Amino acid sequence: MMEKTQEKGLSSAEARRRLLQDGENLISKRRRGSALAVFVGQFRDVMVMILLAATAVSALLGEIYEAIAVAVIVLLNAMLGFFQQWRCEKTLEMLAKLSAPTAKVIRDGKAVEVDASQVVTGDILIISAGDCVAADAVILKQSALKCDESMLTGESVPVQKNACQSELAAKDGEKVFMGTHAVAGSCEACVFATGMNTKMGEIAGLLENIEEQQTPLQQRLDQIGRTIGIGCLAICAAVAAVGIWRGEKPLDMLITGISLAVAAVPEGLPAIVTVSLALAVRRILHRNALIKRLHAVETLGCTTVICSDKTGTLTQNRMTVLKTATLFNEYCDGKRISPKDPAAQLLYSCAAFCSDAKAVRKPSGPLMFGKNGGKEYIGDPTEAAMLKAAVDAGVSADSFYRKGELPFDSERKRMTVWGICRDGAERVFMKGAPEVVLGCCESIMTESGVLPLDPQHKEKVIKKNEQFAGEALRVIGFAYKEKGEDPEKKLIFLGIMGLFDPPRPEAFEAVKKCRRAGIRTVMITGDHAVTALAVAKKLGIVGERGNVVTGRQLDAMNDRQLCDICQKADVFARVTPVHKLRIVRALKQNGEITAMTGDGVNDAPAVKEADIGVSMGESGTDVTREASDMILLDDNFATIVAAVEEGRVIYQNIRRFLRYLLSCNAGEVFTMFGGMLMGMPVILTPIQLLLVNLVTDGLPAIALGLEPADKNVMRRPPRDPEESVFAGGLLGKIVFRGLLIGLTTLGIFSAFYADGCSIAEARTAALLTLTVTQLFHVFECRNENGGLFSINPFSNPFLLAAAAVSAAAVMAAVYSTAASRIFMTVPLTAIQTAKALAASAAVPIISSVISAMEKK
Ligand code: ATP
Repeated sequence: MMEKTQEKGLSSAEARRRLLQDGENLISKRRRGSALAVFVGQFRDVMVMILLAATAVSALLGEIYEAIAVAVIVLLNAMLGFFQQWRCEKTLEMLAKLSAPTAKVIRDGKAVEVDASQVVTGDILIISAGDCVAADAVILKQSALKCDESMLTGESVPVQKNACQSELAAKDGEKVFMGTHAVAGSCEACVFATGMNTKMGEIAGLLENIEEQQTPLQQRLDQIGRTIGIGCLAICAAVAAVGIWRGEKPLDMLITGISLAVAAVPEGLPAIVTVSLALAVRRILHRNALIKRLHAVETLGCTTVICSDKTGTLTQNRMTVLKTATLFNEYCDGKRISPKDPAAQLLYSCAAFCSDAKAVRKPSGPLMFGKNGGKEYIGDPTEAAMLKAAVDAGVSADSFYRKGELPFDSERKRMTVWGICRDGAERVFMKGAPEVVLGCCESIMTESGVLPLDPQHKEKVIKKNEQFAGEALRVIGFAYKEKGEDPEKKLIFLGIMGLFDPPRPEAFEAVKKCRRAGIRTVMITGDHAVTALAVAKKLGIVGERGNVVTGRQLDAMNDRQLCDICQKADVFARVTPVHKLRIVRALKQNGEITAMTGDGVNDAPAVKEADIGVSMGESGTDVTREASDMILLDDNFATIVAAVEEGRVIYQNIRRFLRYLLSCNAGEVFTMFGGMLMGMPVILTPIQLLLVNLVTDGLPAIALGLEPADKNVMRRPPRDPEESVFAGGLLGKIVFRGLLIGLTTLGIFSAFYADGCSIAEARTAALLTLTVTQLFHVFECRNENGGLFSINPFSNPFLLAAAAVSAAAVMAAVYSTAASRIFMTVPLTAIQTAKALAASAAVPIISSVISAMEKK
C-alpha cells in the first residue's frame, strides 16, 4: 500500500477511493442516541411507567376519556423533554465535530490540511512538534523526532524515533501511532493503519468520551434531586394512604398519588443542568471560544485569576520592526542602512537567513503578513516582520543555503542556523532574546571591526535593550560567526531589533471588566521584563508603579515564597513553560480558580494543571489544544472574559430554574398534602395535577433558560466553587414560596367550597389559582434580588410567549366544553375567575412591592 505514494503522496481521487473502501479514520465511540431512542428514553422514568399502567387499569374499568387525556399529557411532556435533550445531544455532537483534530498530508504533490477522519492508508503525514499523530504510520524521514506515547504505553518520557530501514519490517521505534503526539522535531510518515485497525483502535475501550462525564454540579443536583424525590414520594404515599383511609377509591387514590409524584418529583434536575450547560456552550461558541468539556462552563463562572500569554492574546501579534541598533548606530523603521555599517549589513542578513518566514508574491492563507511591492510575508509574525525589514534594507533571502538548524523554542529563547552564503563562505547565524544571544558571544561587531566583548560593550547593549523594551518593544538580538565547531558558542554579537506589537484594543476593556468582576489578570510572558511591564501598563493590568517578577527570580524561590508572590504579582516575564506550571500550582494552592493560556507544546502541562486550560485555535499546537478545556478560536484575551461571563450567566440561569421548578413543585405538594391534613376532599384530580405540571414545568421553564444576561453579572465577585447551589437563601425562598402557593390554592379551594360551590367548581378555581400563581412566579424568578417590577418584562419575549401559551391552555381547560369534560372542570363565572386570578396575583405583587420598597 505504501508503494509509489511517497514522493507526491496520494492523488485526491485515490484518497477518496480508499476512504470509501476502508471507511473513515475514526475510533468508533459509543454512539449517541438516535432521535427515537432519546424519545423512548423519556418514558423510562419509573413514575411515568407506573402512572401509565394505573391509567390503563382505570381505562379497563371504564374511565376511557381520562385515560386518553393522561396519555396525551404524558406524551406532550415527553415531547418537551425530547426537544430539550435533543438540542443538547446536537450541541454535544457539534462540539465533538468542531474539536475534531486535523492532519497535514501530502495530496497531489502538495501539503494540505485535512480532517483527521479523512486520512487513509498510503497517505504521507507531515508531523512537527506539537502535532497529534492522526494514524499509525511508518517514518520515512525524520529530524530529531521525539514522541509522547504515554496515551498508549503509560510511559511519560518521550520516545526518540528513527526513520525506517525497511518499510515492511519497521520496528515500533520507526513508527508513529495514532493518538500520540510529537513533542520535538519533525517527520514524514506513511500511513499503514487507520481507524479501528490502529493500535489505539485496539484499546478503544479506554477512550471514554470525556464530555459525557457528569460535572460536579450535575452530581450534586443528582443527589439533591434524589433526596427531594424520596421526600416527595413519601408525601405522595401519605396523601394516597390518608385518602384510602378516609374511604376514597383505592385505585383513584393510587393514581392521585402517582400523578402527584409525576408532577412533583424533580426527576429532570440533572438533565436541566446538562441542557443549560450545552446551551451555554453554544453561546460561548458564538463568542469565539470552543468548550471541550462541559464542566469547564461550570468552572468558568468561578474563575478568580486569568493568566494570559502576552503575545497574540493580549497583543495583536502583528509585529513591525520599529528600530534597529548596532553598537554605534540606530535606525528607525524604513531608514536605509549605511553602507559604512557592516554590523547593520550583517544584522539584516542574519534576520533574513535565520528565519523560517517566507516572502511570497500572492496572498495565501491566514498567516499572511504585511505587503511590500506585491510581496507578502508568511510565517511566525516576529520572523515575518524581521524578514520584511531585511528585504526593505536590500537583503535577498535567497542568497543563503541552509545546511542545518537548532530551532527556536520558548525554553531556549534562541534559534541558530548554519549554511553557505552567496560568497561561498560557510557561516552560523543566531537570533534570540538579547541576553541569551549575548551569552553565546565572545566578541562584538563595531564600526572598526570585530572586538572582544568586554563589560562596557555588554552594558551598552543591555542599556539599549532596556531602552527599546521600555517603549513596549519586543527585542531580538543577532549574532553570527564564520563556520566553527559548536554553532552556539563564540559568536560575534551584531546588534538588536525592536519590534512593536500593538495591544489588542478590546483587551483593555476586558481587563477592566475583569477587575470589576473581582478577577485578577496576570500576564505571563517569555518576553523581556521591561517590555512586559510596559505592555501591562498600557493594558491597565498594573498601575504606574507596577512590579514584574522574572523567571530568574522564580528560580530562586521555594514553593512557599512562590505562593506568597503569586498573591500579588500581576506580571511574570522571561518565564519558561516550567515556570508557568509552578505559577499555576502556586495559584491553585492559594485557593484561586485559575484559567491559564498556552500555545506551545511545552505549555501543555500548565494548561492541563489549570482549572480552566485555555489553548489557541489560530496559533496553538494540537497538544495544548488537547490538554485544554477551552480553545480560543480568535486567540483573544477578551474571548476568555466573554466565556467567563457566559459561565456566570448560566449558573444564574440554573439557579433561576431551580427556584422556579422546586417552588412550583413544593406548591403542588403543599396543596395536596395540606388539603389532606385539613380534612378537605382531594383538592385536584390526577388529570388536573398533570395539566398543572405540563403547563407550568414545560414551556415557561424552557423559556427561563433563555434568560438574557443580567447586566450586573460582571460586577460581582466570583462565586466560591464549593458554595451550595442553594446559597444566598435560595432554599428558604423556595420553601416559603411553595408554602404561599399551597396556601393560596387551599384558601381559594376552601373559600369556594365553604361558599356552597360544587366540588368541581372549587377544584376548577384551585386549578386556575395554582397554575396562574406559578405563571406569575416564573417572572419573579428572573431576578434573584428583586420582584416582578425590577426587570423589563419584554426583555425575554420567549418567556412572555410561553406564559401566554400556558395561560391559554389552562383557560381552554376551564372554559371549553370539550376540555372541561376531560379535566372535570366547570366554567367559572366572571366574578369567580376574578377571585381566583386576584388571589394568584396577590402574593407576587405584594412581595414585589415589598422588595421594591426595601431597595428604596
Ligand atoms: P508569550 O509567552 O506572551 O507568548 P513571547 O511570545 O514573547 O511571550 P517567547 O515566544 O517565549 O515568548 O519568546 C521569548 C523571547 O524569545 C522573546 O522576547 C524574543 O526575544 C525571543 N524570540 C521570540 N521569537 C523568536 C524567534 N522566532 N526567534 C528567535 N527568538 C525569538
